[in-house]
Amino acid sequence: MSSKPDRTEPITVAAVDAAGLQDEALAALAGASTLAELTELRTRYLGRRSELKQALREVRDRETGMTLNAVRERLEQAFAERETQLEREQLEERLTADGFDVTLPGEELRIGTLHPTTQIRRIVEDAFLGLGYEIRDDREVETVEYNFDKLAFAPTHPTRSPRDTLFLDENTLLRTETSPSQIHQLEEHEPPVYMVSIGRVYRRDDIDATHYPIFHQFEGLAVDRGITLADLKGTLLRVARVLFGDDRRVRFRTHFFPFTEPSIEPDVSCGICGGAGCRTCKFTGWTEFGGAGMVDPAVFENVGLDPEKWTGFAFGCGLERGAQLRFNIAEVRPLWSPDLRVLRQF
Ligand SMILES: [Zn+2]
Repeated sequence: MSSKPDRTEPITVAAVDAAGLQDEALAALAGASTLAELTELRTRYLGRRSELKQALREVRDRETGMTLNAVRERLEQAFAERETQLEREQLEERLTADGFDVTLPGEELRIGTLHPTTQIRRIVEDAFLGLGYEIRDDREVETVEYNFDKLAFAPTHPTRSPRDTLFLDENTLLRTETSPSQIHQLEEHEPPVYMVSIGRVYRRDDIDATHYPIFHQFEGLAVDRGITLADLKGTLLRVARVLFGDDRRVRFRTHFFPFTEPSIEPDVSCGICGGAGCRTCKFTGWTEFGGAGMVDPAVFENVGLDPEKWTGFAFGCGLERGAQLRFNIAEVRPLWSPDLRVLRQF
């Protein structure tokens, strides 16, 4: 600050002792111990109504202006530095103060479980690997030829209709069952064949308690010399017990499927009432768990195998159905629902 003020200049500028003001501000700044105090000092020394700003507004000569501006810059820098320092101190204080209280209750981490359908899938895979079967995971987009023709579906079979099946174009569809795997397997491998195909299948069903347009199937095929219906029944009994428990009983009813002859439907004794009869089993004591049968000779001929030489059986079951029976889940819908209240129980 000019020590020899020009008398024509306003007295306020002349009166400002720039060096003294800077010393005073820096001393105050050094004494500030909180950010709140710092803000207060900043207003006092650099604020709009501060002595320095007022002097700057009224300055008339270049020399005084430069002096005052130098003081302003020096102070602004000092304030910024002190602010950084105080912030760091406060953060350290807070970190020390907010120590970890081991007596507080912990945050509960919910541990997920495998989806019931996945659990069934793994049980089925383990059971059949144990019986010497090979596991297949085939394509879900299939041709009419493999999904219907080679499986001996009659040309008028209702499943061939776009009302039942999701077609991508005239010759391509989303497979309606895992059965095309039978054809792929037999075309790729010479018998003897023991394979299980597991995967997603699609049908044009409305969603209700027992239907969903997407579901999973497992499908087994055994082709060898001299295989009989007794082998099929023994295999299904074994599968039913692995899936549902050793106390389960199995019975077989005759049925019709295009690609097996004769065809049977296995029932498993109801797990809820133990066979006595309840609402879930419609008071019969039994629940249906799939379809099966001896491979139709026409299927063998379609893949170039001699039906006089080879016999075999095939069976299929929905994994969701398996999950429902094993875990006694009354409806299929909770298995696909984003509402996890049911699924969290398994
Ligand atoms: Zn029952």
